[in-house]
Amino acid sequence: MNQNDILFDRACKTSPGGVNSPVRAFRSVGGTPRFIKRAKDAYFWDENDQRYIDYIGSWGPIIVGHAHPVVVKAVQDAAANGLGFGTPTRAEVDMAELLCDMLPGLEQVRLVSSGTEATMSAIRLARGFTGRDLLVKFEGCYHGHSDSLLVKAGSGLLTLGNPSSSGVPVAVSKDTLVLPYNDVDALETLFKEKGNELAAIILEPIAGNMNFVRATPEFMQALRDLCTQYGAVLIIDEVMTGFRVGPQCAQGVYGVTADITTLGKVIGGGMPVAAFGGRADIMAHMAPLGGVYQAGTLSGNPVAVAAGMATLNIVRQDGFYENLRAKTATMLAGFTAAAQAAGVPFSTEMEGGMFGLFFSESAPKSFAEVMASRVDLFPAFFHAMLDEGVYLSPSAFEAGFMSAAHTDDDIAATIEAAKKAFVKIA
Ligand code: PLP
Repeated sequence: MNQNDILFDRACKTSPGGVNSPVRAFRSVGGTPRFIKRAKDAYFWDENDQRYIDYIGSWGPIIVGHAHPVVVKAVQDAAANGLGFGTPTRAEVDMAELLCDMLPGLEQVRLVSSGTEATMSAIRLARGFTGRDLLVKFEGCYHGHSDSLLVKAGSGLLTLGNPSSSGVPVAVSKDTLVLPYNDVDALETLFKEKGNELAAIILEPIAGNMNFVRATPEFMQALRDLCTQYGAVLIIDEVMTGFRVGPQCAQGVYGVTADITTLGKVIGGGMPVAAFGGRADIMAHMAPLGGVYQAGTLSGNPVAVAAGMATLNIVRQDGFYENLRAKTATMLAGFTAAAQAAGVPFSTEMEGGMFGLFFSESAPKSFAEVMASRVDLFPAFFHAMLDEGVYLSPSAFEAGFMSAAHTDDDIAATIEAAKKAFVKIA
């Protein structure tokens, strides 16, 4: 019997859609989600003992590969000393210092347990700091599932064909203004009209929740300049890009510094750690010093922090990102050649260990361009790859992730799978 089918049947009886996060349900690609029981290096195995080369990486965190011995040992050692204390710990101080050291612009930081908490708290802080209410986000960018950010968001909402959410009060969403991504004119116009009322602008500097759409350098600079000019807080959401695209995150790629940065995924190495931080004068408004409240029973959990620290200490090693970038580039070059040979419209994008695959002649620059690409080809491609033992993200709107554990042989096998998959869908 197919264990995935059996488990999915059971799961659907006790959980909505059979999952604990919507995009895992395979809704947009069809079929039964695989139930994974263990993972090592670049692979995971489902309940039928089928092995897959994994390019989801737990949606980004697994940058050093699954069950890396150093990370596992750090977790075991921390767990042996107790799972959580609800008090300050040395490990939290070490992590805060390390993060502030690694990312210029991070003068102070607070640890939380999810990217959603990080962005939600960053926005509250920006509002408390500026005394203003209005928030600006960009079409297709996803920043977690707090109410004010579920307006024209990407990720699972796009996968489900509904870039918004019911249950969000109109009174909350009216304070979120949405602009097209990469549109400097629209940005300037908004600032001219409402610049003095804006608390914050939040963006994904490389939007991985509408596949992979990078901000243009002009857009990033305009954001920085306008926020400074009008006193709005620039929040760069690096939950996905943080220490995934390079050693100083996307801010290092662009040479633009946020007022507040949000981090998650890689900084927890697969465990629940996220963070928000930035200018010390802004962070001073956080409780217990200032009036902006935020708290968490599990914030800075010692076992989770141990996994994050061990992961960060690996990515800091010389050559880590060069190696990761080379692997990603090799794989994408193989995909591109395979698509060309099969006559399928195709393009790719990448930065560090994060990539996008598009069924279009050139890589999209906006949400509208992503939607105009042949997203209809994705489900068949996804399943053809899965049949060959390659696990891509089950959505045409999510980025993919390379890890340091992917070997040359894994990449060659992935390219061979893609050759067959492109021929199948051509
Ligand atoms: N921000 C970005 C850019 C993300 O990609 C995500 C999750 O994918 C989040 C925030 C929310 O993080 P979490 O799922 O940990 O709540």
